[in-house]
Amino acid sequence: MFVEVALDLPLEKTFVYKVGDYVSHEPEVGKRVIVPFGSNDFLRTGIIVDLKEKVEFPEEKVKEVFDIPDDFAVFMENTIALAKWIADYYCASLGEVLFFFLPSGFEITESFRVSLIEENVSKIKLSPSERKIIEALQGRGACKVSVLKRRLKISNFYQSLKNLINKGVVVREEFIEKDSIPKKRFLILKESKALRGAKSKELVEFLERRGKVSVDELKERGFSLAVINRVVKEGVADVVEEKVTVGNRPQELKDLREIELTPSQKKAFEAVTSAESGTFLLYGVTGSGKMEVYLKIAKEFVDRGKSVLILVPELLLTPELRARVESYFGNRIGIFHGKLTQREKVSAWLKAVRGEVKIFIGTRAAVMLPLKDLGLIVVDEEQDDSYKEQQKPYFHAREVAIKRGKREKFPVLLVSATPSVDTYYRVQKGEIEKLELKERVSTVPLPFIKVVNLQDSKRTNIFSKELLTALENTVKKGEQALLFINRRGFFAQSFCPSCGFIAECEDCAVPLVYHRSEKKLICHICGKRYKPVYRCPKCSTRLEFKGYGTERVEEEIKILFPEFKVVRLDQDTVKNPSVGARLIKEIKEGKYDVIVGTQIATKGHNFPKLTLVGILIADLLGGAPDYRGAERIFQSIVHTTGRAGRFKPGAAIVQCFNPDLPAIKFAVEYRFEDFYREELETRSILNYPPFNKGVLVEFQLDKLSGFKKLEEKFRLLKGELSKYFSVGELIPAPIPKVSGRYRFTSFMRALNEEVLLSGIMWIKKTFPDTFRSFRYKIDVEPVRII
Ligand code: ADP
Ligand code: ZN
Ligand code: ZN
Repeated sequence: MFVEVALDLPLEKTFVYKVGDYVSHEPEVGKRVIVPFGSNDFLRTGIIVDLKEKVEFPEEKVKEVFDIPDDFAVFMENTIALAKWIADYYCASLGEVLFFFLPSGFEITESFRVSLIEENVSKIKLSPSERKIIEALQGRGACKVSVLKRRLKISNFYQSLKNLINKGVVVREEFIEKDSIPKKRFLILKESKALRGAKSKELVEFLERRGKVSVDELKERGFSLAVINRVVKEGVADVVEEKVTVGNRPQELKDLREIELTPSQKKAFEAVTSAESGTFLLYGVTGSGKMEVYLKIAKEFVDRGKSVLILVPELLLTPELRARVESYFGNRIGIFHGKLTQREKVSAWLKAVRGEVKIFIGTRAAVMLPLKDLGLIVVDEEQDDSYKEQQKPYFHAREVAIKRGKREKFPVLLVSATPSVDTYYRVQKGEIEKLELKERVSTVPLPFIKVVNLQDSKRTNIFSKELLTALENTVKKGEQALLFINRRGFFAQSFCPSCGFIAECEDCAVPLVYHRSEKKLICHICGKRYKPVYRCPKCSTRLEFKGYGTERVEEEIKILFPEFKVVRLDQDTVKNPSVGARLIKEIKEGKYDVIVGTQIATKGHNFPKLTLVGILIADLLGGAPDYRGAERIFQSIVHTTGRAGRFKPGAAIVQCFNPDLPAIKFAVEYRFEDFYREELETRSILNYPPFNKGVLVEFQLDKLSGFKKLEEKFRLLKGELSKYFSVGELIPAPIPKVSGRYRFTSFMRALNEEVLLSGIMWIKKTFPDTFRSFRYKIDVEPVRII
């Protein structure tokens, strides 16, 4: 018997090994296998991707498997086939894809240990090599295999070691700790005492209510380790370690009969639960009851004995969301995302393998979980860019989910108030069925949105009179306001702070990027270079190359309203998760009047006192200089203004220079379908995705002297590709040298998927693996082109 094995290497091919008599478990597709690899036979972990009865080349040349350590497969046959598609489409090797998803805790190298069972030695006959191994092990405890191998230098080392293991003379340690269930620390109330310090008091009170709480949850709730330790030291509570099965929170299960679905919710429920497969879009504004229906749909599948996977964007996987899902499914939920520890990941993966958990919530990394009898994948907020992996294999979890649904024949439910333009396009083409929730269930009205034209308004710096008045009134009422500003990119666009003019490429209609090294404005779609303009061509004001940052807004607000309590919520201030959790908790408690924040502030959290949202410069919400700018402006406006008045009626003020931009106009008037119609028309005219497939190719050079050669090769490639591709020029990155390498990009557009795949073949052919002087990466359907 032979097995075809995928290894974690950037090589296209897979490897064939012989399965000898002595392996711990039967070979099976999807199982882990430990194999010697390379000239020094270093042990590596692979995945069996196929079984073979015979091989085409001489059998003696085929190396033998060291072991098949598990009685279970870590990948299902279906997901291996899916991984092959990911590898082809997103341009990676099968091994790279499989090992990207498989938690690295599953990888075994030569660092495992073996030890001798002395009393068994005399019972058997030994070959010379086996004797050498035994002598080396005698009188010692467990020894690392890598050390043993290096010391002994015998040619048939693994064969001999395996024989000894099979004869029971040597034992190896388990490859997965049997007990891979992580332990968690809990605080248990021992004796109530009055402690000094507000935080300690609060913690004691909390423990009185709950009795037992995990340390993780306490941290999530904003209690610092110092406070927790103090409470323990004072004898109020004990710390215990316990194994965590799945959930550990007290359950307040909802009585499901309480909620009766509205007619359109019911229609959506029926469409998905009666479907055998197909992709659906659950579409409706915030508060239309989307989550409620998809949880009910999920429940229905679980009740039928199926498993269900709910994907959410990275920032949305908050304790609040978890609590809401738990209110439906109790403790039976699995969680899987990139920030878990290796042990937690292995443990979650095993729960899926063993079918112990029927319902998983996770981020993009969860899309390949080996869930048996998968009956449904929900992709919540399907438009969110965090579904796209930003490193190899660059997959998009929504696309993988849709493919998985087709392959394993189950429905996939995309959910959004503001679907991506891509998804909407597919709805129009009839590839996705739209299920619309027209009436809202929430009794709180959507916020009233007022647009302020910054060109007409009297303003102080960037604050219009309207916004300042609204701010004052809100704070006076004891409510909170959020001032929203886009996260600043590392590229510089030229922007007129007086009339809002943004320099754009005349062919591509995307903002130009200022390149300091060349002193040129460059279009990152086509590569065209422009002389920089330093004064606004419309109003002669001096142009700025950088936008407004949160810090500047915070400072200016503090100067304008010294009595306001202001907090900043951006990448910098929430870098430390426990600080972030504390700030969010304090905001909910009403400790601040004004929140100055980026996207981070607008995702996943409900701030009950927040009734006013101000967007400072809506025109700049497009961020990166590419064809998705309008889409991002539209999405940001809807999502940000939606934060106002979750619990009581709120208002939003959208400041902008161009109120007629469709992205702004249609967002503030809640005319979503009109936006999609116009945006698709524009994209079609300018020949942008979704009317074709975008590919970003990035080259990296160690030395600039290599550029000539790169350019030569690139010309050849361009000539070859331009039959079916539109290929942009080679463009240096705006910051040319990043971590010691010079980066150059080219943005390409392929007519369709078929052409795309053959184009990628050409790229690989022109720049073979062996062409070491520069590296390159290929990002298919990128969400960023810079
Ligand atoms: P969305 O996901 O569209 O923003 P949610 O599902 O969060 O909407 O629903 C908003 C609120 O309305 C939630 O508190 C939810 O429990 C409640 N809700 C949803 N559907 C119903 C219904 N049919 N009857 C009563 N309340 C509902
Ligand atoms: Zn101007
Ligand atoms: Zn251009």
